[in-house]
Amino acid sequence: MNNLNQRKLLSEGKTKKIYEMKNSYKVILHYKDNITALNGMINESFQDKGILNNEINTFIFDFLNKSGIKTHFIRKINNREQLCHRMNMIPLEFVIRNFVSGSLSKRLKIKEGEKIPNSIYEIFYKNDELNDPLINDHHAIFLKIISYEELNFVYDMMKKINKILKKFFNSKNIILIDFKIEFGKNYKNEIVLSDEISPDTCRLWDKQTMKKLDKDVFRKGIQKSKDMFDIYMEILRRLHTI
Ligand code: UDP
Repeated sequence: MNNLNQRKLLSEGKTKKIYEMKNSYKVILHYKDNITALNGMINESFQDKGILNNEINTFIFDFLNKSGIKTHFIRKINNREQLCHRMNMIPLEFVIRNFVSGSLSKRLKIKEGEKIPNSIYEIFYKNDELNDPLINDHHAIFLKIISYEELNFVYDMMKKINKILKKFFNSKNIILIDFKIEFGKNYKNEIVLSDEISPDTCRLWDKQTMKKLDKDVFRKGIQKSKDMFDIYMEILRRLHTI
């Protein structure tokens, strides 16, 4: 058993800290209370957000592990932290869209909420200087970020993850409008689902009322950060409802 206290801060992002553990291929993910919008230009917090997000991520990643998806998640350690496999992150954000919303709605001038029967898969290049531009497969291969074979593998995983999560959220009376995921490579160079899946990274609408149950209500200024607690709590409550 590794000593969880033998840790060193590896990196600190807007909403998470990552600690490396001595002589180990494992890391500790620590969820902070921050909630951000506009690529971090708005950075606020609400009390216990990190606790709720740790709990939500634990639930979802545990479910994906049990559904046969290879993820970085090992287990929750305490109310703000989880133990994960250490990853070499691929600097791409993969967005999966089942209904039109957000940047797609703006880019193609299509009303929010329109169903996308074929689901749309998009790639964004994680690069702050360039403001994370939308790219396609050929750009990613040209940039030598990923190979053709690896991309095929990732697309296959994305389809599986989308199928599992759509059904999962549907059973909780939630429509999975769209979501963003990230992949990393483990020490064996295998591609593994990493980062997080939560109301920070998904658009989740109530199936009956179409009410938004995710970070969008903060982004759009509909709710103040301090009122976001109720939304994250509602998601957690539904996850625990069978
Ligand atoms: N998303 C994310 N991080 C980002 C950008 C987007 O998690 O930096 C998620 C977002 O929550 C949504 C999906 O990816 O579920 C698609 O976002 P979109 O491209 O519409 O961009 P946005 O409108 O959020 O700027």
